[in-house]
Amino acid sequence: MQSISPEIIFRGNDAWVKALPHITAITKSPLILGRSIHTHKLRSKIFNDLKNLKLVVNSANLQFDCCYEDISFVKNIILKNNHDSVIAAGGGKVLDSGKYIAECLNIPCITVPLSASTCAGWTALSNIYTKKGQFIKDVTLRSCPEILVYDHKFIQTAPSRTLASGIADALAKWYESSITSSTIDDGLVQQAIQISRVLRDQLLIDGGKACKGEFENNLSWRNTIEACGLTAGLVGGIGGEKCRTAAAHAIHNAITQIITPNKYLHGEIVGVGLLLQLRLEEMKNNNKLANQSIKQLLVLMKELNLPITIAELGINVFENNNLEKIADFACRDKSEIHFLPFKVHKQDIVEVIANFEQQKIKI
Ligand SMILES: [Zn+2]
Repeated sequence: MQSISPEIIFRGNDAWVKALPHITAITKSPLILGRSIHTHKLRSKIFNDLKNLKLVVNSANLQFDCCYEDISFVKNIILKNNHDSVIAAGGGKVLDSGKYIAECLNIPCITVPLSASTCAGWTALSNIYTKKGQFIKDVTLRSCPEILVYDHKFIQTAPSRTLASGIADALAKWYESSITSSTIDDGLVQQAIQISRVLRDQLLIDGGKACKGEFENNLSWRNTIEACGLTAGLVGGIGGEKCRTAAAHAIHNAITQIITPNKYLHGEIVGVGLLLQLRLEEMKNNNKLANQSIKQLLVLMKELNLPITIAELGINVFENNNLEKIADFACRDKSEIHFLPFKVHKQDIVEVIANFEQQKIKI
């Protein structure tokens, strides 16, 4: 069984308004789930619009992350108040929590991404973290959300950093799926990989222009936010489990194990993981094209002010055994790094990261 996409998708400047009759048709008492203080105003608007349509609305905020503590806290609120749906309005952590909670309670989930930082508004997948933001595992859900509302006016209000992060996460789709799944002879998987290539090309062409801060008549911005929030989700939907993540996300998961005072976004960490995956391919699998890809990606990542080393994520890998901790987690038994078509040992990761962190990166 495979859930390819949300049942209904609304996109564009008036997506929220257009979605309202469809939302009121499936829920009478939704819980609006959010987290960030930045999105408070938008969530108030969502709350008031639904209240004006005579829905019994309540709201709750994640205290920490998409973690078991918050999940059970929100579940209790829903059960206590007999809510009949979850409207998850926010970034990836809020969307993932909303989908997971709705599935546990067998009620519909409506996702309203408030930035283009991930494709979590689309997918049948939730990543679970600890309270402190350390990755634990990803969970495949039975289905994608019932309704996805991708309102461009809402997404315009997000900090530009979230879009840059979404670009890095979406770029990883091609580099991860093409190396792990190119030998799979399933036509749908092959086609999903091809879509991720077109997605990468689109982001290389439009990503820089999209982040210049103008929204009106900025076709690059529109194409880019939809690439990050919609097409990236479609690739996962069509490709399914076989269209896999690989080292970029495995290294992301490992880096999150080291708590830093500065919080970095999912895609910002994945971007660094992606560069390290390519260096791993170059050093351990003799892939000459990987170095070309690194050079090409660095130009865009610099333009978008994305971190490009683990040091730029606020972590000194040469202190506190950090390098070993990252390598250990990245190479643990269940790690996605083992989906690479060549053997990766802990020592390989140590070598690649040490090499990458010490080099002077020139563009
Ligand atoms: Zn990701």
